Amino acid sequence: MTDISTNTVSTLATAITCDVIAIEALTPSISKVILSPQQPAAYHAGQYLQLLLSAEDKRPFSIASIAQHNQLELHIGTPAGDNWSGAALAHIQQQHRAGLQVMVEVGLGVAQLRLNSQRPIILLAGGTGFSYVYAIAQALSEAKTSQPVYLYWGVRQQDALYYQPQLQHWAGQADNFHYIPVVQQPTAGWQGRTGLVHEAVLADIAALEDYDIYIAGPFAMAGVAREAFAQQGAVREHMFADAFAYI
Ligand SMILES: Cc1cc2nc3c(=O)[nH]c(=O)nc-3n(C[C@H](O)[C@H](O)[C@H](O)COP(=O)(O)OP(=O)(O)OC[C@H]3O[C@@H](n4cnc5c(N)ncnc54)[C@H](O)[C@@H]3O)c2cc1C
Repeated sequence: MTDISTNTVSTLATAITCDVIAIEALTPSISKVILSPQQPAAYHAGQYLQLLLSAEDKRPFSIASIAQHNQLELHIGTPAGDNWSGAALAHIQQQHRAGLQVMVEVGLGVAQLRLNSQRPIILLAGGTGFSYVYAIAQALSEAKTSQPVYLYWGVRQQDALYYQPQLQHWAGQADNFHYIPVVQQPTAGWQGRTGLVHEAVLADIAALEDYDIYIAGPFAMAGVAREAFAQQGAVREHMFADAFAYI
């Protein structure tokens, strides 16, 4: 398994300078960052960028926004003891405070939305893997596609469902968009699904042959989901995740 704490993903992408527009807490341990690129930033929904802490130290983050928005939205989780993302966020905060820009490489990865496919879609997110599926869901909405979309978002505690109102709103507006939050360790009062998020998919959809499946989250989740989905009929070529390159 590749260690992303010393990330050395090689890339031919051009480095782009970005102004830091905003840093906002989504939860006590997840921050939203908005960057404004000073040069054109070309990417597809579902791709990621690398934040350059130095020429050698590049850290990948899914791009939560879509290219039409002209700004780059990131969701950075900084759980206690995780210096990989904590150092990335600290770098952005430091540059912002000093009135300096950050450098990123955009348009990376192979797990972007396949818009030419008509198959129904499962979007599987674990934790901040939501950033990736959020971009894909926005692109599908913009393209006014009609195939069913099932967005499963698994979190440990329900307060980590930081875009819940917006997703519920979408689900109420579009007949083909379905939102299924899954809480692993619910507290009293949670009335939705519980357990591991990929197990909710397995319970709901008996045959996965027909689906395109997009996956982002902890590497362990991506690996377990890929194998379990394949056993339930999913076609490996129709499952997409940049995490697969790391496991
Ligand atoms: C290309 C790339 C892009 C990345 N983009 C980002 C980014 O935008 N933001 C960011 O913060 N980090 C990013 N990372 C780093 C990494 O993917 C995240 O740290 C990770 O997704 C964070 O998960 P979490 O702690 O939020 O999920 P957790 O809170 O650990 O888990 C959420 C849910 O996932 C499921 N799950 C977790 N573990 C397992 C398991 N072992 N088996 C089955 N199910 C499980 C459960 O349903 C759980 O409730 C990226 C990494 C790469 C390589």
